[in-house]
Amino acid sequence: MFKRYALRAETRDFLAEAKSLWLDGRWQHAEGGRTFAVEDPASGVTIANVAEASAADVGLAVAAARRAFESGPWPKLRPRDRERLLTTLAELVEADMETLAELETLDNGKPLSEARDDIAGAVDYLRYLAGWATKLDGGVKTIGVPGSFAYTRLEPVGVVGAIVPWNFPFSMALWKIAPCLATGCTVVLKPAEQTPLTALRLAELIEAAGYPAGVVNIVTGVGPVAGAALVSNPDVDKIAFTGSTRVGREIGAEATRRLARVTLELGGKSPVLVFDDADVDAAIAGACNAIFYNQGQVCTAGSRLYVHKSRYREVVDAVASYADSLELNHGFADGVGMGPLVSAAQRATVERYIDIAEAEGAVRLTRARKLPEAGHFVAPTVFADVKPGMRCVEEEIFGPVLVCASFDTDEEAIELANATRYGLAASVWTRSLSRAHSVSAAVRAGTVWVNNHWVVDPAMPFGGVGQSGVGRELGREQLDAYLETKSVTMLL
Ligand code: NAD
Repeated sequence: MFKRYALRAETRDFLAEAKSLWLDGRWQHAEGGRTFAVEDPASGVTIANVAEASAADVGLAVAAARRAFESGPWPKLRPRDRERLLTTLAELVEADMETLAELETLDNGKPLSEARDDIAGAVDYLRYLAGWATKLDGGVKTIGVPGSFAYTRLEPVGVVGAIVPWNFPFSMALWKIAPCLATGCTVVLKPAEQTPLTALRLAELIEAAGYPAGVVNIVTGVGPVAGAALVSNPDVDKIAFTGSTRVGREIGAEATRRLARVTLELGGKSPVLVFDDADVDAAIAGACNAIFYNQGQVCTAGSRLYVHKSRYREVVDAVASYADSLELNHGFADGVGMGPLVSAAQRATVERYIDIAEAEGAVRLTRARKLPEAGHFVAPTVFADVKPGMRCVEEEIFGPVLVCASFDTDEEAIELANATRYGLAASVWTRSLSRAHSVSAAVRAGTVWVNNHWVVDPAMPFGGVGQSGVGRELGREQLDAYLETKSVTMLL
């Protein structure tokens, strides 16, 4: 079993300090000194106590962000200074990589190597956005009025309220904060209550980078109180939300009611399509990674595997035997294959879906196994021969549970892939160039991967269609949500 892992001194020091709210450039206690406990999901042990923001605390944070947007040094900062501050932050994050990765593993449960990948990806992302800060151009327009001069200006949308989930806590926080910093917005971020630690470490790095007070505010607290207060605050111009479709729908309704801008990155039930001409070994490895990475708690997880009937048995048996071979352990353990789920509640949800799938008649290919005694572990589970309409096929489980079925023709594969309310991602495994293009075009999803199920690059837009959300993150496209276009028309 897991040998005790020696945490870095920096990580221990960070955990030893009381955790307040990062608000208006200062660390401040929550109203009434309220706190909540944060646990290590691999052991159930409390690792920190964190401030629990009230609605009034969120109001203070929004007011600070509004002041910073209207009258602080921030609105006057030149784009190249915003670029420099983003680059400085990237350097600070890179230098702090090991501490951030340890905190992420402790807080979320993911294997340390995956946490390191997350932080390294966030550094790339910060550098990518630093480049955009100086390239947000409007344009001169040709209009039909003689003697005129017309142009557009891109202006920051204002104060952004950002709410993020627990599956990639650090990356998700930066996916919201960095576009604000590149475009000149200010932001109040509410991390998920299960995983607030790396966002608070990020606040320390933002402080060290020298951002003006109030530009970034980080308020820890629970969704229905702190999150809801952020969404309904009339001084928040734009809401950027990543989380469940259920909460996203409520947030979208409230934002629409008060005509705030809103982007929603929500759930998914992404298909993996393996055709008869695929490199089968690559497809098997890809399908395993697609569902078991981060314990299956990935919005783009490949949770439905559809395989051509000529390769079906071979592929699903190989995926099931890989699942059975995965070592479940603390994210710090050598050779760990999968860590725990993030919380007892998430484990209960996933276990309930496993029961539902069995009751629906799905055929379980993976073995029952003894789980570590402490922590929120769930065995990776593969179900074969599922049918459209089963709940295990239609609903997002958000855990290491895969459902599989076979298909005969390309049309049938596309029909199965599109038989979902979601539309976040899909992967297509084939050696045929024309099939790669035709299936990519026919699948309804924000992202289609061919012969991979993981490439997320800062330059490629990311987001969903249907119940998977509204808007795009990453790429040039993400910046549109943080900018307003002003038309200036002059008669000379
Ligand atoms: P969740 O919706 O329960 O919580 C997400 C965030 O919303 C948390 O910070 C939470 O505190 C907050 N929240 C909860 N209730 C709220 C309310 N009433 N008002 C305002 N804020 C509220 O989701 P979760 O369980 O933390 O995350 C898992 C979900 O996130 C999955 O459905 C997953 O697919 C989705 N997700 C999507 C993407 C994407 O990019 N599309 C990425 C990661 C996760």
